[in-house]
Amino acid sequence: MNSLSLDDFEARALDTLSTYGAIPCLSPMFDAQWDQNGHIEAAVQLLASWARTIKLAHFDVAIERLEGRTPVLVVTVEATAPSSGTVVLYGHLDKQPPLGDWSDGLDPFVPVRRGNRVYARGVADDGYATFSALLALEELEGRGVKHARCVVLIEASEESGSPDLEFHLDALKERLGDVELMICLDSGALTYDRLWVTTSLRGIVVADVTVSVLTQGQHSGSASGVVPSSFRILRQLLERIEDATTGDVKLTELHSTIPLAHQEAARAIAVEFGDVIARELPTLEGVELMGDSASDRILRRTWAPTLSVTGMGGIPSPEIAGNVLRPFTRAVLSLRLPPTVDAMKAADAVVRALSTDVPSHAVVEVSVSAADGWMSPPLAPWLAAALEVASLDAFGRAPGFTGEGGSIPFLASLAKRYPHVQFVATGVLGPQSNAHGIDEMLDLPMAVGVTNAVATVVAAHAKKEV
Ligand SMILES: [Zn+2]
Repeated sequence: MNSLSLDDFEARALDTLSTYGAIPCLSPMFDAQWDQNGHIEAAVQLLASWARTIKLAHFDVAIERLEGRTPVLVVTVEATAPSSGTVVLYGHLDKQPPLGDWSDGLDPFVPVRRGNRVYARGVADDGYATFSALLALEELEGRGVKHARCVVLIEASEESGSPDLEFHLDALKERLGDVELMICLDSGALTYDRLWVTTSLRGIVVADVTVSVLTQGQHSGSASGVVPSSFRILRQLLERIEDATTGDVKLTELHSTIPLAHQEAARAIAVEFGDVIARELPTLEGVELMGDSASDRILRRTWAPTLSVTGMGGIPSPEIAGNVLRPFTRAVLSLRLPPTVDAMKAADAVVRALSTDVPSHAVVEVSVSAADGWMSPPLAPWLAAALEVASLDAFGRAPGFTGEGGSIPFLASLAKRYPHVQFVATGVLGPQSNAHGIDEMLDLPMAVGVTNAVATVVAAHAKKEV
C-alpha cells in the first residue's frame, strides 16, 4: 500500500539534501556568530525553497523569526479530513560540529554516497526530517488519503538544547491550534529493519565547575606539599557525585525506579537482538563493559544516571606541561538523568555536592544548565494499532519500542505544554549513523521506511476522528 519508493525519495529529495549536507549550519552553541555567518539562514532558505515545490493542495511555507533567535521553518498543510486537531511533525536543521577528522574519503561538509548511504554532517540528524515529513504528506494526498491539519516545524537550535523553541512555540500557539499528535523525527533506531518508536529519553544536567587555589601558578617545587592541588580537590568533589570504583552515581536526587514495563521491554530486546548496545560500540579489545547482561546494558543506557567529564580547563597540553602547581582546574560535567527525574532538582543536588564544605576551603565556582528527560505517555489504542500497521507496511516487520540514552529537551517541554497529546518519537539514527560523531550517515532505505510509516500514522490519525 505504501508507494514512496527509494527511487521516488532520491528523485524528490536527494539533490537538496546533498546541498544541505554541504552547509556548515552549526547550532548556535558551536557557532556563536551564527547570525553573521549566515549558514543557518542558508539552510532554512534552502529547505523553505524545497518545501515550496511540494505537491499539496493547500499549504503555506513560512520562515518565522524572532529578534536575536534562530529562525524556524513552518509548513502549514490544510486538512483534507474533517478534523479540528493538528498533527505536528518536528525536526531540526542545525547541526553538531564535525567533532574531528572524518575517515578517508569522507568529509563533514562534502556529501558522499556509498551504496544506499549518504555521509555528511546533519543528513541524518536531522536534515532528512523536512523531506520525510513533507513527502509523507505528499504521498497521502497523491493517493487521495485524508489527513488532518499538519504543521511541519523545523527548528534551528536543537543541538544547543532548543533554547529558542519555547519562544517560537509561544508565538505559534494559534497556528499550532489543538495539537493532538506530535511526530518527532529526531530519534534513534536499534536496527534498520523496522520502525523504532522511542519510549523514553534521558534528561541532562551540564555543570561547569572551577576549583581555584592560587592567584597564579607556582613552581611545584616550592608550592606542592603546602598548597592543596586543585585537581585533588576536584577529585574529592567528583567522588561525592560518582563512585570512582563502580561508576555509580551517588546522589539520590539523580535516581528513580525503572517502570516494570520498561524492564520487560529491555529483556525482550535482549532476547531478540542479543547484546545490541555492546555490539555497536567501538570498544578496545579487552576492555570490560559496565552492566552484567545485555538487558542490563539497555537499561543502563536509557535509565541510569551517569557522569561524563566532557571538557577540562586550566591544564596545559602534555607538550607544554611544566612543573607547576596550577592555580585552578576546571571541568565540564555532563550528567545523564533517568527519564522521570526532575532535572532542576538534580541540578541543585549537583551544585550542592560541588560547593558545600569544600575541602581546604578552596574556591569553587559552578554554573549549571538542566533539561528534563521524557517518558512516553501510554499509546492510545488507535495509535498503537497504527504503528503496528505502519511498520508492517513500510518494513514488513512489527515496530520496535525502546528507550534512548540521549535527550530531546523539547519533548519534555511539549509534553508539559500539551498534556493530552499523543507522541511518536522515531528516527533514522541506527547503527553506524554516528550522529554527533565522525562519519555521520543517512541510511536511505530507512529514511524511506520512516517516511512511509509516518504517512500511515498521519492517515490513521485522521480516520480515528470520523
Ligand atoms: Zn537531532
